Amino acid sequence: MARPTTAVVWFRRDLRVHDHPALAHALGRYDRIVPLFVVDDRILDGRWPSANRRWFLAGAVRALSASLKARGAGLAVLRGDPIALVPRVAAQVGASAIVASRDYAPYGRRRDAAVAAAAGKRGIAFEAGRGLLVHEPDELRRSDGAGFSVFSAFHRRWLDLSPRAIVEAPSEIRPGPRPRGSRPDVDGLLPDVTPTALLEHLPEPTEQAARSRLHRWSGSAALHAYDRDRDRLDIDGSSRLSQDLRWGLLSPVEVLARCGSSGAGPARFRSELAWRDFYAHLLWDRPELARRSARPELELAWRRPDPDQVAAWMDGRTGYPVVDAAMRQLRATGWLPNRARMIVASFLTKHLLVDWRIGEAYFMAHLLDGDPASNNGGWQWVASTGVDAQPPFRIFNPTLQGRRHDPEGTYVRRWVPELAGRPDLRGLDIHAPPRGAYLPPLVQHGPARAAALAAFAGLRRRQTDS
Ligand code: FAD
Repeated sequence: MARPTTAVVWFRRDLRVHDHPALAHALGRYDRIVPLFVVDDRILDGRWPSANRRWFLAGAVRALSASLKARGAGLAVLRGDPIALVPRVAAQVGASAIVASRDYAPYGRRRDAAVAAAAGKRGIAFEAGRGLLVHEPDELRRSDGAGFSVFSAFHRRWLDLSPRAIVEAPSEIRPGPRPRGSRPDVDGLLPDVTPTALLEHLPEPTEQAARSRLHRWSGSAALHAYDRDRDRLDIDGSSRLSQDLRWGLLSPVEVLARCGSSGAGPARFRSELAWRDFYAHLLWDRPELARRSARPELELAWRRPDPDQVAAWMDGRTGYPVVDAAMRQLRATGWLPNRARMIVASFLTKHLLVDWRIGEAYFMAHLLDGDPASNNGGWQWVASTGVDAQPPFRIFNPTLQGRRHDPEGTYVRRWVPELAGRPDLRGLDIHAPPRGAYLPPLVQHGPARAAALAAFAGLRRRQTDS
């Protein structure tokens, strides 16, 4: 009788059993599965540490462990350097392959290339495939073979492609040998951390809870009003699935399928998932963008940041109620609506003339959905240094943004208690409180806007002169 074949299925940011193509591939091809997760300190303590994401990750791995155990093959968790550990575990359990969902960001790619090389030396294959995105970078190329740098063209092509079929969650997984020294979940390997956000605001970090969130969203009236309400700050107009997509508790292909595409709401929602792919592909094609502006020639002469101004922005003390509400919501919940992200990012880069990378890092410290591709893309879009960014002369007026997207002041009152207790400031007034009613504005909108525009004009002059 032939010896049973074994594969290690290495989970990273695909912490689910439903619609998991790599797991399905391994189950179809190999007799026994060794599910593995490695606590990687280089990610946890590296460039983007975040107590909120660490907390979410711990919960998601615990839930994955329980769900795999119920299917017959418990998760093996180890802590250390995956480049050394994963090939070693694969050799020790007699695996012929390591199977994973392909990663697209620079660190993950370097890590995977090194794991593949080390595994190859031991005669073990590294099979990385679909799982994190709707469409792969190699499926969306321009006619000259390059990746798209304009979203509208990318989106047209993206809509033409059919997503892969959804794969069922396995009911049973035949287990391989248990890796030496492994534990069944993160307990004892990922020290408990207290999130910086308040527990009462955090979503339950389990695949099952994420599936309920998707179920609720896909059957909601809000999905059908998404095109109209997604920018409203005072109502829950968006899915709030971003942390589930970030950690792979949900697959984007399944989210797309469950939410449909008929009607303006679902169609608009689908295009936001295309943005997610767009930014992931961009970083795949141009990994240098993780640290650099796509259009450095549009970088404003960002002054050495004034620490007091940056601290006021971070703490939600700018004197602009909508900016302050958003920054306080970010700290309290680890999440922000897209419109609020745009307003505060614009304020930092264009009103305070602070380098977008400072805001990018602050968001990464707090966001549960903090993602190297989407966060970088979002910041560069707002700062006007991205590949397909908003034009430099678009500078949000925080008062008008507040009035437009929070017309009754409900959002501001929820997050800025000083203003919640001011029933005299009704509706639109709350976004421009009279002198003495709230903190004075850190900078005046008019002069700050003029200074940013003058700085951009200066850049253009320098470019035409040179
Ligand atoms: P929905 O509006 O319901 O959208 C559904 C899903 O589509 C989201 O969950 C997300 O996965 C994706 N999506 C929506 N909008 C975008 C977008 N503009 N770019 C990429 N994907 C999108 N999103 C992140 O997932 N991680 C980040 O770190 C991140 N940082 C951002 C930073 C800035 C400065 C800006 C302007 C945007 C950023 N976004 C980021 C995009 C967007 O703000 C969030 O995805 C969205 O607010 C999450 O809420 P939701 O799940 O309710 O989104």
